[in-house]
Amino acid sequence: MALLIPIFGDQLSHGLSSLAGQDKKACVILMAEVDEETEYVPHHKSKMVYILSAMRHHANDLRSAGWTVDYVKLTDAENSGSFTGEIARAIERHKVSALCVTEAGEWRVKAMLDSWPDRFDIPVEIRPDDRFLCTHAEFESWTKDRKQLRMEFFYRDMRRKSGLMMNGDTPEGEQWNFDAENRKPAKRDLAMPTPLHFAPNAVTQDVIQMVERRFAGNMGETTKFGFAVTREDALRQQKHFLDHALPNFGDYQDAMLTGEPFLWHSILSPYINSGLLDPLELCRAVEVQYRAGKVPINAAEGFIRQVIGWREYVRGIYWHAGPEYVESNALAATRPLPEFYWTGKTDMHCLSQAIGQTIEHSYAHHIQRLMITGNFALLAGLNPKEVHKWYLAVYADAYEWVELPNSLGMSQFADGGMLASKPYAASGAYINRMSDYCTHCSYDVKQRTGPKACPFNALYWEFIARNERKLRKNPRMAMPYKNWERMADADKVALRAHAQQFLEKLG
Ligand SMILES: Cc1cc2nc3c(=O)[nH]c(=O)nc-3n(C[C@H](O)[C@H](O)[C@H](O)COP(=O)(O)OP(=O)(O)OC[C@H]3O[C@@H](n4cnc5c(N)ncnc54)[C@H](O)[C@@H]3O)c2cc1C
Ligand code: SF4
Repeated sequence: MALLIPIFGDQLSHGLSSLAGQDKKACVILMAEVDEETEYVPHHKSKMVYILSAMRHHANDLRSAGWTVDYVKLTDAENSGSFTGEIARAIERHKVSALCVTEAGEWRVKAMLDSWPDRFDIPVEIRPDDRFLCTHAEFESWTKDRKQLRMEFFYRDMRRKSGLMMNGDTPEGEQWNFDAENRKPAKRDLAMPTPLHFAPNAVTQDVIQMVERRFAGNMGETTKFGFAVTREDALRQQKHFLDHALPNFGDYQDAMLTGEPFLWHSILSPYINSGLLDPLELCRAVEVQYRAGKVPINAAEGFIRQVIGWREYVRGIYWHAGPEYVESNALAATRPLPEFYWTGKTDMHCLSQAIGQTIEHSYAHHIQRLMITGNFALLAGLNPKEVHKWYLAVYADAYEWVELPNSLGMSQFADGGMLASKPYAASGAYINRMSDYCTHCSYDVKQRTGPKACPFNALYWEFIARNERKLRKNPRMAMPYKNWERMADADKVALRAHAQQFLEKLG
């Protein structure tokens, strides 16, 4: 009689809680590639190649470490297409007496796990996922008696808890946050680092062929696939980032440049989210670089804030908000997603750059996601659920727990401000300040109406006008509404008419 330990595609960590303290000889690990996971959104081909190849490599690593692993491929003739179906088949194959699993990363999979005790009539142990710094109970207790759930205060608690960049009770540099130093526009620099490229081995080639066959119509191409698919190679990319990109990470965190998809970002999120890299270990390595005088404080603090601040915080919000969070639509936005989100074919250069590199690399950095594709969706009133599904499909790091609060909450304000204190809405001026995109665009960022006017400008004022009833009382929106009030009526009418014309053409 065996203990069955199912491991999912985002649980590729050797220290996974379900494996801790188990007798290897008495266990069978089950890993399964199933249609229900590959088809719930039309995933980018590179995302699928990455996850499936990393799973296959992880299974081999576990076998080398002495575990028995039963691996079901997507193409196996008997594959039932669902995790529950595969558990049922594995119970038969291995005479299973009990199940032990690390908790699910999202509501959809949690519901499935919760159904297993009744369905299989054997003991099912669900262990907490201890790869996060903040437990569910801690986050819930943090939310108690708070009117607003702001990341900054949560982050300070995580600094105290982890001891990262702390000297006793005092934050290093006597300041919690150096974000004000992290908003510099970048200039092209020939010494700019690029992430490592890992040539696909035979295992990855197999997956590439299968994905190209089965998912021919999905976004992306696999000819340039170069993600790490093992922990060893992910650690190489981690070291490459620490040595070459981290020193400038802070300064240029918000910058965007034509033809430069990566700048000084880490490109580590796919590895962190699937379990190949340990986020706390990574943050400690960042602090070591800082303490050794190799990187400035705004880079080290800025990076650590993204991981133990934002990443932990959005996870907390995801579980706190409940399964119905996905249905939020506080601004009642209903416009369908324009086709160019899938093709990148638009004459708005900023959007064609952000979407173009998404198609090529399954990657865009935070400000591109928030202030280009997200900002446009917000201003144009695109349906937030459709926007969420797009983000979930197209990025190699996208899992619902981290993607949904970022897209629906932070970028679309669809949760009415549970996550963000104000909508991240901006006109072309912001994009022009933080990038060189506008100098390559057929639109003129300085014009507000007329055939050459940057669409973001009129759309911005249309957004302000359209949502006046819902946003005017927000103290952080006082300035835009003051400016709107001061505007001559004729200008208001012209701006709104221009925006309406644009939106009608959008479909
Ligand atoms: C609309 C939208 C959708 C997003 N969807 C995802 C997603 O599906 N998966 C995902 O991991 N991140 C998502 N993010 C957050 C962020 O954009 C990515 O984590 C980041 O771009 C990943 O690239 P990187 O590893 O080079 O990050 P870096 O810029 O190098 O940052 C370092 C690390 O910090 C963490 N991080 C930074 N910002 C965030 C954040 N807001 N939330 C959570 N973690 C963060 C990531 O682990 C990241 O690897 C989204 C942001 C927005 C605005
Ligand atoms: S001019 Fe407007 S549309 Fe063109 S790149 Fe700048 S912000 Fe984007």
